[in-house]
Amino acid sequence: MKYVGAHVSASGGVENAVLNAVEIGANAFALFTKNQRQWVAKPLTDESIEAFKAHCAAHGFEPHQILPHDSYLINLGHPEAEKLAKSRTAFIDEMRRCELLGLDRLNFHPGSQLKQVSESECLTTIAESINLALDQTAGVTAVLENTAGQGTNLGFRFEHLAEIIDQVEDQSRVGVCIDTCHSFVAGYDLSTTESCDAVFRAFDQIVGFDYLKGMHLNGSKKELGSRVDRHHSLEQGFLGLDVFKYIMADPRFDGIPMVLETIDEEIWDKEIELLRSFEN
Ligand SMILES: [Zn+2]
Ligand SMILES: [Zn+2]
Repeated sequence: MKYVGAHVSASGGVENAVLNAVEIGANAFALFTKNQRQWVAKPLTDESIEAFKAHCAAHGFEPHQILPHDSYLINLGHPEAEKLAKSRTAFIDEMRRCELLGLDRLNFHPGSQLKQVSESECLTTIAESINLALDQTAGVTAVLENTAGQGTNLGFRFEHLAEIIDQVEDQSRVGVCIDTCHSFVAGYDLSTTESCDAVFRAFDQIVGFDYLKGMHLNGSKKELGSRVDRHHSLEQGFLGLDVFKYIMADPRFDGIPMVLETIDEEIWDKEIELLRSFEN
């Protein structure tokens, strides 16, 4: 079973995200459980939590169809102690919000070395951050997203993800999300069926499909290997549709939330229909 949707708005309360997903014909969705541009958020109210769960039950959404995303401010690999502590506290809060909502995974960008430490030191810090968060929470898997490699962000090589996972103590609660745009601009050619085969073979060898807990389905405004993160609609930009045909026809992508973060939300319903038309 393929679960396809979009990163929908949770404005007015997380419960609204479920309804926004239903409106576009999605059977998966992503959301922020708090304002993604602020450090501190009001706790989720009991009413909001109950409404979220009720909407999910009414519309047939289970936890494995939902991929919450954490705040963009968090850097779990921050080289400075005070800022690292702030990020870790905020991340644990986000994990707890997922727990309260009955969700089982939280998607985040690994972290940035900010030109202050080596890649491998930063990857170790990120793994330690994950270990701390897993110790203090239950039932929520930490899902590392591969990145475009813009600036000093790590996670743009599959090897980075593997190096983090290797240092996580409870590997049953760590996973990855692959973003098609990020992969492409990071240098993984997903523009043809043959190149998709090669990229996902490498992914399976280096990380492993067992760890795949979600996908971000995006076109790219920038060229292969440009390391610039600019999403585009599926039918526009440099990526092309072959990768989406590939994913929708391949059972290795069954059973996980696959969400659009494409730039024109007015056509999300059409993009979901297009993806469905690629299913075998
Ligand atoms: Zn993404
Ligand atoms: Zn992106």
